[in-house]
Parts: sequence; C-alpha cells; structure tokens
Amino acid sequence: MKKLFIKTYGCQMNFYDSDHMSNLLKDSGYTVSEEVKEADLVILNTCHIRDKAAEKVYSDLGRIKKVYENNHLRKPIIAVTGCVAQAEGKEITKRSPWVDLVVGPQAYTDLPKLIEKIKQKPDHKQINLKFPEVPKFDLLNFKSKKSKVSDFITIQEGCDKFCSFCVVPFTRGPEYSRSKKSILEEIKIMAKKGVKEVVLLGQNVNAWKDSSDEKKHFSLGSLIQEIADIDTILSIRYTTSHPLDMDLDLIKAHKYVDKLMPYLHLPIQSGSDKILRKMNRRHTTNQYLKIIELVKRYREDIAISSDFIIGHPDETEDDHKKTLAVIDEVKFSSSYSFVYSERPGTKSSELNNNVDDKTKKKRLYEIQKRLSYFQLDFNRKMENLIFPILITDKNKNNQLVGRSPYNQSVYINEHNLPTKYNNVELIGKMMNIKIEVANQNSLLGTLIDYA
Ligand code: SF4
Repeated sequence: MKKLFIKTYGCQMNFYDSDHMSNLLKDSGYTVSEEVKEADLVILNTCHIRDKAAEKVYSDLGRIKKVYENNHLRKPIIAVTGCVAQAEGKEITKRSPWVDLVVGPQAYTDLPKLIEKIKQKPDHKQINLKFPEVPKFDLLNFKSKKSKVSDFITIQEGCDKFCSFCVVPFTRGPEYSRSKKSILEEIKIMAKKGVKEVVLLGQNVNAWKDSSDEKKHFSLGSLIQEIADIDTILSIRYTTSHPLDMDLDLIKAHKYVDKLMPYLHLPIQSGSDKILRKMNRRHTTNQYLKIIELVKRYREDIAISSDFIIGHPDETEDDHKKTLAVIDEVKFSSSYSFVYSERPGTKSSELNNNVDDKTKKKRLYEIQKRLSYFQLDFNRKMENLIFPILITDKNKNNQLVGRSPYNQSVYINEHNLPTKYNNVELIGKMMNIKIEVANQNSLLGTLIDYA
C-alpha cells in the first residue's frame, strides 16, 4: 500500500471532505499515515477563513519540501486542496513549484484521475478549480467511509450572501443544497455503521432546501424530522445558520423534534446596525434579537452561540458598545470572536482599515471578557442537573467524553462509574450524566444510568 499524509485546516466541513478524500484514494491503493516522511502522496486540505491563511499554507509547503530533501527521500506527489487552492489557483504552483496538484473544494472527486495523470507526466501540473455539473456528493462512496459515534455530514455548501469581509462565496461558490435522497442515503449507511449522532454541516446550513419537489416546501426543519425518524440516530445538531434563513419550520423543530439538540449557532458579527450594513449582513440587530426571542418562545432553554468580528473598518467606540449591549442582552452560551483582518478580493478590503491594532485588541479583550462571563454563568447553571448524554469517546486521561444537549463538552471520570458498568462498552450509549462541576469550557459529570 502507498501512504497518504493529509493535513486538514479549518472547519468541520474540511474534515468531512478530508475523510471522503482518504476514502476515495483507498481505491487507488493509499492508506493514511501520520508521518509526512513516509508519504507517497501529501494533501494539504486548506482553509481561507483565518488571517494569512495562504501564507501558512506556503510555509507548510516549504517545511514539507525540507522533510524529503533533508532526508534524501523520493519526492512525494504534493496536492493543495480546499479553499486556499480555489482562491490562489495557479499562483500556488508558481510560488511552490514542487506542488503537483491544485484542486478546489468542489472538484476533489477528480483526485484519483489527476494523480494518475501526474504519475504519467510529472512535469504537467494539474489544476482543477471547476464547479462540476454532477454534484460531488453523487460521486462519493459512503459505504466504505469510516464513521464515528458522532459524525458530520455536509448537506449544503457555498454562500450567496456576500458579506463584505468574507471569501466563502468566492471559494465555495454559490449556495448548493445536496438532495434529500443523497443525504438520507448517507445517514442510513452511517447509522448502520454505528453512528448515533449526526451533525449537519453547511456554510448556510439553514438555507438548505429540497428542490426535487417544487410544490412542496421542504426545508431544514422537515429534513431534521425525517432524520429523526431513523430509529438508531439518537441526536441531531446542525451548524452554521444565517439569520436571514431562520424559518418557522426550523424554529418549531426545536420544540417538536426531541432528537434535535437545543443549541443554535447564529452569527451576528456586530451589534451595530451601521457596521452590519457595511458588512452587508442584510439584517439589523433588532431583527436578530427578534429571531432569538421567537426561538426561545418555542424552546425556552435553547443555548445560543454566535460569531463576532471586532474592529471592522469604521467601527467606532459607540459601535463597539452596541456589540457589548447585544452580548448583555442575549447572554450567549459560547461564542467565537476575532479581530477583523482583511481578505484580498473582498469589499471590506477596499475600505480604509482604520481601526488600529491596539484598539482592536482592547475591544477584543472587552468582548471576550463579557462572553466568557456569560459562558461560565451558563455552564454553572448545569451543576447538579442530570442529562442524557451520548458517550462519543474516551480521552487520554481515561475519561469518557460526550456533549451536553447545549453543546458543552462533558468529561466523565472512569473512577466515578458504578461497578455494574465495569467492562461494559459505553462508547455509543446514551447515558444519564449528573453534572458535578462547571468549568469555563467544559463540564465534569458522573454517570448515573442508561438514559
Ligand atoms: S453568510 Fe457571510 S460570513 Fe457566512 S459564509 Fe456567507 S458571506 Fe461568509
């Protein structure tokens, strides 16, 4: 067998893609290796969302070159895939001529073919950034892909929203909803392999719609209901949602579908309407708050998390205070916050980046302090409560691991287990866990019984 070293950057969707890439390449004789030194094929599956993403990829490419040169090894085939591949294209092979393949996120099902071409003509770089006519999902082999107790499945890709700071519409293309048939087929196969929880992924996951029946409105809420009808799937989560695509079907699913976890990740980015306009978010703070109010009317205890960009061009102290006020109002259970940094080619990058680094850092500190306060407060409310939690893994400290319904990481010490659980395989089981201690980023619990 030949060896494949694959490094994945960024989001869960990239990890899902990487799993499918390794699975596709299994048929061409590649097994995954953790060692770049022994690789016949190296794939960097890249992400463009963070600052200086492309530069990080170039420096990793330089390091890989040194590994085989310094060790006098045969040069492996080197491929760059994912969003940096889509954004940089040919530039990658110009700056790093030892790269053989550049393949966009929609074209990776072509990898086996492209690798064969490289083997035949090593000097002909292969670049495929196309958006294929046959959706890649129709070409994937779900049956042989490895599965975990809690596993991801991409149901939607791309974005039509064009937020002015974001590159996703350029790298992942326009919004595309995978067919309901293909999604259910993959989930049923996953369920047979022991998957108990599915996490539905999409750049705008709640923009998903089934277009196979024009007359019937079939949105994410109804899809979730159909997934819940699969007996052995015990838990359903989804991410990431856009405020513009929150419809009543999905909101109601949080009340009526027991298997849907009470957690919603709904980015707002800023609490200032002026900045939201500059970001082209196409919603106001008030509209966002109204959605949260409606969601809570259907599911009072739902945990809400968000994303924040701090120091977007033209953000004043007053705009910053408005963001703090939204945090105070919603009391997010967790959130991601980053200082603004420009992405080449976006509208925001044409604006004068006029918030200096010191101010950005100060504002980020204030935002994170407030977010951390509410996160710990939310976590503490869990103490002494008992939840059904799916045990997904065991960590290196020998603790069982799972996620609370509200998406908090939960660790269970083995020594707390009642003796009747000695030698019982608990991974994959839904267990009642009593939360004993709430920390900033996780909960510690004791196993009570089967849920
Ligand atoms: S909604 Fe905005 S931030 Fe999200 S992927 Fe689309 S353009 Fe990017």
